[in-house]
Amino acid sequence: MKKKSFAVIGAGRFGTSVALSLTKMGHDVLVIDSDEKKIQELSDRVTHAVQADTTNEHVLKTLGITNFDAVVVAIGTSLQASVLTSIILKELGAKYILSKAQTDLHGKLLEKIGVNRVIFPERDMGLRIARSLSSTNILDFIEFSPDYSVTEFIAPLKMHGKTLGGLHLRAKHGVNVIAIRSGEKINISPLADDIIRKGDLLIVIGENRVLEKFIKE
Ligand code: ATP
Repeated sequence: MKKKSFAVIGAGRFGTSVALSLTKMGHDVLVIDSDEKKIQELSDRVTHAVQADTTNEHVLKTLGITNFDAVVVAIGTSLQASVLTSIILKELGAKYILSKAQTDLHGKLLEKIGVNRVIFPERDMGLRIARSLSSTNILDFIEFSPDYSVTEFIAPLKMHGKTLGGLHLRAKHGVNVIAIRSGEKINISPLADDIIRKGDLLIVIGENRVLEKFIKE
């Protein structure tokens, strides 16, 4: 994996988790937070940690923010600080901006500003958990877009002993199987004559409404 450089603005629970995960993956990570204490806590756990107020354009310019592959704006509670920081990043020409939104209005504002991606961590995680709890078969549900998701679920009884081709999942349901996990083994290019066995995990991609119906059936 190519080493990349990231700036994470806001060291709350979400920002800290993103920053530490990226560091563990071997990337260069700069964390910026206006709270000196948060910066001290992180200073020897990420590449650089700087105490600064990112609603000040000069600060972001001086830190060379346009040199980073991506900037994560992880300020949630202060709508003003999140929006102002995102506008400045956009105006300076940051390469890729991912901003966290707390409410629908917050999300709309960030979209209007033109950040590359808006995420709602609490809402999205809540949805994922609810989906996996609502069916005993679903282990994970990752939303790609409002319409499409990747889901991992335990092959139901009706599939046991059948071939992938024989189930006609694509033709009948518009669902594509991208991998099958049998115990420790994972088959990432499943073929039509591969047999589904009891305990297999199927990783599929498809339209949300189809997936939900398909897994419940
Ligand atoms: P989480 O839920 O991830 O814990 P949160 O949504 O509650 O976070 P906040 O606590 O509002 O988000 O903000 C996260 C961090 O952003 C805080 O540590 C805060 O000090 C920092 N922060 C807020 N405003 C600014 C700013 N203008 N410049 C730099 N950092 C800021």
